[in-house]
Amino acid sequence: MNDRDIIKDFYEDHPDRETLIAEAMKRLDSGEPAAYIIGEWYFWRYTFKLNKDCLIPRPDTEIIVEEAIREIPKNSVFADLCTGSGCIALSILGERPDLRAIAYDISDGALEAASENARLIGVSDRISFVKADLLSKGSLGDSIFGAIISNPPYIRTEVIADYPDLAYEPHIALDGGDDGLIFYRHFVSEFSKNLADGSKFIFEIGFDQALDLAALADKYGFICKTVKDYGGNDRAAILSRK
Ligand code: GLN
Repeated sequence: MNDRDIIKDFYEDHPDRETLIAEAMKRLDSGEPAAYIIGEWYFWRYTFKLNKDCLIPRPDTEIIVEEAIREIPKNSVFADLCTGSGCIALSILGERPDLRAIAYDISDGALEAASENARLIGVSDRISFVKADLLSKGSLGDSIFGAIISNPPYIRTEVIADYPDLAYEPHIALDGGDDGLIFYRHFVSEFSKNLADGSKFIFEIGFDQALDLAALADKYGFICKTVKDYGGNDRAAILSRK
């Protein structure tokens, strides 16, 4: 379905559907993504509620879910950093009934959407949400995780404006600092002590960041495996201790 059909479908049963569809089409024509207009988007096998504080879930990100489902040790607790709508953590919990998760984000709006999504998917009893500035030291406390997963902001500050498609998305969910690596660097240097023995970081990365991640991993005593998404771009980086 294209965006217009998705919008029509969304309002189909609404008594004011004609007015609502006309308004929605105007917003769509002015460039606003359909996901923000209808307040939800499809990812993995669920519909995720979202608001302007959440990045729109992308099909490319599904590769992170696939890798995580395979990698996370049985019966463990994993962390999802910068959870946004919760699409990664909640999709994993949907496939792996043995797992529990703690999901972190700095944004109240994102945490509200993510906890609503947890209720809708029926996994609220296995996930807790924590508001945290993940660039500050010690934001994971003493917790020990079976995996630390994240799709952090990873676009270099100076190129964000080159992506007009991202204009409606929350800037703080995109901005990875001068070299795009600020979150990865902080996570690997500060939070490796929060990984259980043999456990891994599983990150979404930008299509051109595989070498940067490999260098970063090496510096902190990890090896980095990258996995491509279905578009053929490097998309997942899996870091294990050397
Ligand atoms: N996937 C987004 C994009 O490149 C970026 C998301 C992010 O910074 N985590 O369009």
